[in-house]
Amino acid sequence: MPEMSIFSPLSPPQRLLMGPGPTNTHPRILRAMAADMLGQFDPEMTDYMNQTMELYRRLFETKNQWTFLIDGSARAGIEAALTSLLEEGDKILILNNGRFGLLLIEIAERLNATIQAIDLPWGEIASLEQIEAAMLSFRPKVFACVHGDTSTTMLQPLEGIGAICQRLNIISYVDATATLGGMPICTDKWGIDIISAGLQKSMSGPPGSAPMTISERAAHYIASRSHTEKGIANATDHQGTRSRIRSNYFDLAMIMSYWSEQRLNHHTEATSMLYAAREAALILLEEGLEHVYRRHKLASSALRAGLKAMGLKLFGQEEHTMDNVTGIIIPEAVDDQTVRTAMRNLFEIEIGAAFGPLKGKIWRIGTMGYNAQKHKILHTLLALEAVLRHATSFSPSEGKALKAALQVYEKGVPQ
Ligand SMILES: *Cc1c(COP(=O)(O)O)cnc(C)c1O
Repeated sequence: MPEMSIFSPLSPPQRLLMGPGPTNTHPRILRAMAADMLGQFDPEMTDYMNQTMELYRRLFETKNQWTFLIDGSARAGIEAALTSLLEEGDKILILNNGRFGLLLIEIAERLNATIQAIDLPWGEIASLEQIEAAMLSFRPKVFACVHGDTSTTMLQPLEGIGAICQRLNIISYVDATATLGGMPICTDKWGIDIISAGLQKSMSGPPGSAPMTISERAAHYIASRSHTEKGIANATDHQGTRSRIRSNYFDLAMIMSYWSEQRLNHHTEATSMLYAAREAALILLEEGLEHVYRRHKLASSALRAGLKAMGLKLFGQEEHTMDNVTGIIIPEAVDDQTVRTAMRNLFEIEIGAAFGPLKGKIWRIGTMGYNAQKHKILHTLLALEAVLRHATSFSPSEGKALKAALQVYEKGVPQ
């Protein structure tokens, strides 16, 4: 027998992932991913692709034909949208109030766009008036913002933004990575042109697929930049008059042809991720979206009640917090790392640190997807209480958190 024991076989610990994502993967999704490959143009494969489009139309609450997956983590969706929309020098207005607003700016900078930002402190949200005023003075081609930003745990309301953009002929893009599957995404009602997401937050899937939906208006614009790769082009392919999209992998014009009946052979669809994304959407639609959203609201309300009962203070304006992640102000004299390490080592529970101006100031606890369940909320609260009592000078009284959380579950939350 050759000596092959260079490393031990893969056996990751069974952690309870209560951070802001990734979250634990639903077992049905793991099983779906264990299925064998299919050929790219196999009728079963193209059926699965069409079914996935149909399922995500329901999740995104849209009639958009162009509702499909970008292969890659959530930022692949962000990058595909911005790269396909922005030509060199194009004006883009970006709402900058957290880590992922900064990411939008960074991607737009790489595309040599002309950027104006609405800069707000992390944790604040922008009013519709503020956004409209910035649009009227800057007259951008594209407006981009984040729906729920896990870095701040805040939710940017989107009502009204689409209508203003349509009136001013601005294409709107929203990063809804952290909210899809946890809070309603009303694409058509809000009138947002492009929304993209990811699987590893409230969709309960692994990272590596970015569901996206694109309006007719945006699709029409993207088609004007269509320049099909030579080796796969047909004489009849429509070629656009505008500049070629500067990324091949993230060329939405070609990806749209791939997901159309034309089935242009762009990349090889990440088959296992397609299975995962399809299963993830199916699970949520079987449960019913209203029930899914209420489960998240209940989980975060119970968590927050428990944290407050421990004497902890929550971060941000409560009426603007997301339903699937909570920011907790780290009490003075409590060490961020000590607590997180003890949570992991003693209880196998991961909670989130923070970035940028909030680093060392807040923890972030997710109540996302498969983890937005009563027993997981209770485990997390009790573990945190024990760690705070035994490893820090902050001593919450015993049992109060559990009682407060259970009360929320008994009473329920307003619908
Ligand atoms: C978590 C998160 C992402 C993550 O992007 P990845 O490429 O999947 O790591 C993007 N945007 C927002 C708003 C997020 O909360």
